[in-house]
Amino acid sequence: MTDIIVIGGGLAGCEAAWQAAQNGLNVRLYEMRPKVETGAHKSAKLAELVCSNSLGSKLSDRASGILKNELSYLNSLLINVAEECSLPAGNALAVDRELFSKRITEAITDHPRIELVREEVTSIPDAPVIVASGPLTSPVLSKAIQAFTGEDSLYFFDAISPIIAADGIESDSVFTASRYQFSEGNNTDYINCPFDEQQYYQFVQALLTAERLPLNKLETDILSGVNAGHYFEGCLPVEVIAERGPDTLAFGPMRPVGLKDPRTGKRPFAVVQLRRDNLIGSMYNLVGFQTNLKYLEQKRVFRMIPGLERAEFMRYGQMHRNTFIASPKVLKPTLQAVSRDDLFFAGQITGVEGYLGNIATGLLAGLNIERLLNKKPLLTFPTETMLGSLCHYITHADLKDFQPMKSNLGILPALPNPPRDKRERAAAYSVRSSRSLEGFLSLLPA
Ligand SMILES: Cc1cc2nc3c(=O)[nH]c(=O)nc-3n(C[C@H](O)[C@H](O)[C@H](O)COP(=O)(O)OP(=O)(O)OC[C@H]3O[C@@H](n4cnc5c(N)ncnc54)[C@H](O)[C@@H]3O)c2cc1C
Repeated sequence: MTDIIVIGGGLAGCEAAWQAAQNGLNVRLYEMRPKVETGAHKSAKLAELVCSNSLGSKLSDRASGILKNELSYLNSLLINVAEECSLPAGNALAVDRELFSKRITEAITDHPRIELVREEVTSIPDAPVIVASGPLTSPVLSKAIQAFTGEDSLYFFDAISPIIAADGIESDSVFTASRYQFSEGNNTDYINCPFDEQQYYQFVQALLTAERLPLNKLETDILSGVNAGHYFEGCLPVEVIAERGPDTLAFGPMRPVGLKDPRTGKRPFAVVQLRRDNLIGSMYNLVGFQTNLKYLEQKRVFRMIPGLERAEFMRYGQMHRNTFIASPKVLKPTLQAVSRDDLFFAGQITGVEGYLGNIATGLLAGLNIERLLNKKPLLTFPTETMLGSLCHYITHADLKDFQPMKSNLGILPALPNPPRDKRERAAAYSVRSSRSLEGFLSLLPA
């Protein structure tokens, strides 16, 4: 007899299925590959890493290191296997991707309480279920999810802008002001990086010559929109805008209209605007700077922006199809749908970005569905933990600007007395997360 259904044998789905099965549930896990392809996955194996083979830093004073430690403590299948398959890669947890997927596939198919079904799911089952179908959820299921969440609640977008840490911005080089200061609300929500003419043209030149990430056929098709071969106008990458002429950016996302630099009393030649990305103001995104440059190139070129010479990138810009629900409206921090207790979402479809975050939400959904079926209180991890903070972020973010979020120190609640030194501060976050997680678990009834 099947107790629960999991849709998607990716990172989140495998972790969810395994956690639920380890806790005694009979799981039916649906994976549509190889019958139906996603365009990005290359094999029929479960838990395939679609791009990089790195799960992020292992260092405990890095955001991904904190999340990895939490997952190890919670006995994550995927993290345990990643450790077994790890490759020498400095401080990063990089894996042999073939071996990793092979071992996960074996762990799932050998589990006595998991039945793997190689079929596409086309509707949301009327049974306890975890939807973990990922950013490339099949179009038919996407429609069914859209029907459930409401027309406006399933987002598709093709490009995201980088996010940087506030404490890497050189405050002497920038100024705070909204465009048309009096009509756009609170000034401090925007930081402006002003360019003079020479700086602007040097920047445009660097953008034009920077290396881009190759797009695969599926991504090119998706980006093509109605007229094959063209990008959607609404989210053009900055480097593509720059190709249209040296001044195009200065009339587009870098236009200085409505802004005056208080130090010169003049309008700058061009401007990059940074918009506050979280409530506490520890992160800012580069407005209108969707990009498909390689990550190292983003770091190099965007550090040419006046004031961002030392910028720390919390998330790089990228382009690909991304299907995610409006979690602030649709989900509870337990990862249950607000309107249906036995429907859970996990992985990238919730708006959590990055391999580790996807594994983490799979783990939580797997634990919570078992607790629901056995009438135990569901888990909401403390926000002092990275997992708790990620779930809090996706379910409490401003819906209007909601975009996928990766684990990062900026989403954790501020420390009461933060050390001045950046690394010491990060270490303090890490210690607090471990204590908080241990304390939380120790209080759970056996
Ligand atoms: C092109 C691309 C590159 C990325 N690169 C990185 C990277 O380098 N680093 C990083 O941290 N993150 C990256 N991500 C983001 C994200 O971390 C990964 O996509 C991650 O695999 C998401 O995990 P998931 O479990 O949510 O989805 P997936 O791992 O994609 O798993 C979802 C599974 O569901 C299956 N499925 C879909 N629809 C159905 C259906 N209707 N019925 C049955 N099965 C279905 C799919 O075949 C897939 O196996 C990338 C995303 C994309 C799209």
